[in-house]
Amino acid sequence: MAKTRRLLVLGGGTAGTMVANTLRRRLDRRQWQITVVDQNDTHAYQPGFLFIPFGGYRPDEVVKPRRRLLARGVDLVLGEIDRVEPVADTVVLADGQRLGYDYLVIATGTTPRPDQTPGMLGAQWRTSIFDFYTLEGATALADALRAFDGGRLVVHIVDMPIKCPVAPLEFAFLAEAYFRERGMRDRVELVYATPLPGAFTKPIASAELGSMLDERKIALEADFMVERIDEDTKTLISYDEREIGFDLLVTVPLNMGADFVARSGLGDELNYVPVDKHTLRAKGHDNIFAIGDASNIPASKAGSVAHFAVDVFTGNFLAHIAGRPMTGSFDGHANCFVEAGDGRALLIDFNYDVEPLPGRYPLPHVGPFRLLRPSRVNHWGKLAFRWLYWHALLPGRPIPLPAHMSMAGKQHQEPKE
Ligand SMILES: Cc1cc2nc3c(=O)[nH]c(=O)nc-3n(C[C@H](O)[C@H](O)[C@H](O)COP(=O)(O)OP(=O)(O)OC[C@H]3O[C@@H](n4cnc5c(N)ncnc54)[C@H](O)[C@@H]3O)c2cc1C
Repeated sequence: MAKTRRLLVLGGGTAGTMVANTLRRRLDRRQWQITVVDQNDTHAYQPGFLFIPFGGYRPDEVVKPRRRLLARGVDLVLGEIDRVEPVADTVVLADGQRLGYDYLVIATGTTPRPDQTPGMLGAQWRTSIFDFYTLEGATALADALRAFDGGRLVVHIVDMPIKCPVAPLEFAFLAEAYFRERGMRDRVELVYATPLPGAFTKPIASAELGSMLDERKIALEADFMVERIDEDTKTLISYDEREIGFDLLVTVPLNMGADFVARSGLGDELNYVPVDKHTLRAKGHDNIFAIGDASNIPASKAGSVAHFAVDVFTGNFLAHIAGRPMTGSFDGHANCFVEAGDGRALLIDFNYDVEPLPGRYPLPHVGPFRLLRPSRVNHWGKLAFRWLYWHALLPGRPIPLPAHMSMAGKQHQEPKE
């Protein structure tokens, strides 16, 4: 009888769950063992973190037990990954357990690291300095916003890349609407401090989103590279010695891949796994892939990117194990709803080569979603996404959106001056 082959998936978040569930349907159970390793049994729907500070979701509405989200026939091992030994095709857990593999998928994502900015984790942490990239942070911020009586609120990004790069902008737009609804907008000064030269990474979207900041009277502090936080004076201080004081700071700490990636000699300076951006195979390793936020591909770190990437990866992986060439080529396709406040959102759709453009999606002229312009339908799309996430994306059910970005429905546009 043929030897059982082992696929080991590190990380049971968005990408790891989709990989395991999709391949469980395609690989013969008698020949393939699929195991997922994660440090805990709580899977969080991270896009929901954005709404928790404003009372849009309760914390218990965005989490489910990981085990229940994995298909029958996928084993789950709970434990912290200590290192990968690529030469021995083995993963070692912190408790000493050793797991062998024939193929390895690294899907351990990226994590906010407040410890990387001096002064961030001091006495002001979760007193006047908050993040919303963790469930605990978003929950604590909900209380802080309710208690906030006015002053300067600074929304801040330490450095790029971060997961969901539009989320801090969405937070700023939602905060502006929230204070208006509470009748206290005139008592709140809103500042958006970013290391980027504008509101966003790509010129056309940056101009559009920048004018939305202007309209809402949210001051943009661009090219702001924070060096440290003075917790006594509650001030952000940049490398070029600019200072921004705050009463409430909502920061996105430095995002980094998992430390074990560096310990295993598989990471770059931010612990992301260098891969071929079209096949997602780790450079220099024939049997290791990295999918989702854990890889260094020059695409947005987003669940939508992970989903489209898994589509391409699945075909490639099946070809690869059958000894055929991997002909599928991932194009960096991303699409993200951007909440604008007041029950409206934008949608952006782009890839490695094409920046977000205006138009309609997914059907040209029909939509129903509008690209790069706020609409109510887009906002409903964003809210509906939570259901789609649990019931279609994670189980690996086919959804009728092509993995590759399409130019159909998009209009060419020059960036605004
Ligand atoms: C506030 C916010 C809003 C967002 N909004 C959107 C959005 O609107 N649209 C969108 O597409 N994306 C959005 N995202 C991004 C999206 O959630 C992520 O890109 C996506 O979850 C990435 O999936 P992943 O599998 O790569 O990583 P994750 O889903 O983060 O999974 C990584 C897993 O690895 C495990 N792990 C890590 N290290 C170890 C270790 N040493 N040992 C054991 N286990 C380990 C973790 O426990 C985790 O379960 C948002 C994210 C945030 C924070």
